[in-house]
Amino acid sequence: MQLPDFDWIFFDCFNTLIDDFDPAGEEGSLLSVPQLAVECGFFGAPAEFREAYAHVRAQTLRNGREIPLHERLRQTLHAAPANRSREECVAVASRLQTAWEVEYVSMLRPTPGVEAMLKHWYARRALAVVTNSLLPGLPQAQLERFGLGRYFRFVLDSATLGFKKPNPLLPMEALSLAGLGPCEGTQVLAVGDRHDVDVPSALELGMHVLHFNRRHARPGVGLTPEGTNVIHDWSEFR
Ligand SMILES: [Mg+2]
Repeated sequence: MQLPDFDWIFFDCFNTLIDDFDPAGEEGSLLSVPQLAVECGFFGAPAEFREAYAHVRAQTLRNGREIPLHERLRQTLHAAPANRSREECVAVASRLQTAWEVEYVSMLRPTPGVEAMLKHWYARRALAVVTNSLLPGLPQAQLERFGLGRYFRFVLDSATLGFKKPNPLLPMEALSLAGLGPCEGTQVLAVGDRHDVDVPSALELGMHVLHFNRRHARPGVGLTPEGTNVIHDWSEFR
């Protein structure tokens, strides 16, 4: 694979630098939150919670905005048949979010070979993380937990900014943090595991892209579309 010339690398975080998928290949999404919402008396069954949450989530996707988990949960609880006060929904949303975070964080682990790859590039290019996240600050905290935070000039997440990939406003803000103009995307290589999420926003800003295809490690992942630079293991990225 012949890589183009670039000064910066913008990495996606989850399932690129840190893995969160389970043995079935599913990303850590709601975990035990639907069951907890039932136990708190808001919904009759976990499926009802999931349906209400999916509706709230769809609203957020429509405009390319990131609505952090707490607000998603509050809106979902507000839509419940229980019809509780706003204060009660806020309090239970906090409880659900705390439970989610403990459970989610315990699933996380660094992607195989990630630190050797970062060490290599840290000596050669400027590195940053530009990523979707349900919680503001979560990617930075988890990268630090695994000793990877020191490799990056900055970590920008969607929950902090309020826009999520594939909306180009997230990588556009990252260009600005990197000291680059909106037309200087050609100086950046964007690397991510989701071809449908990570690639379009980068291409829109003129960035080069590298798809980290996880199909050898993660069930359910398909082939990379023709014409996109691809690797399947960090050892290929040097
Ligand atoms: Mg990802």
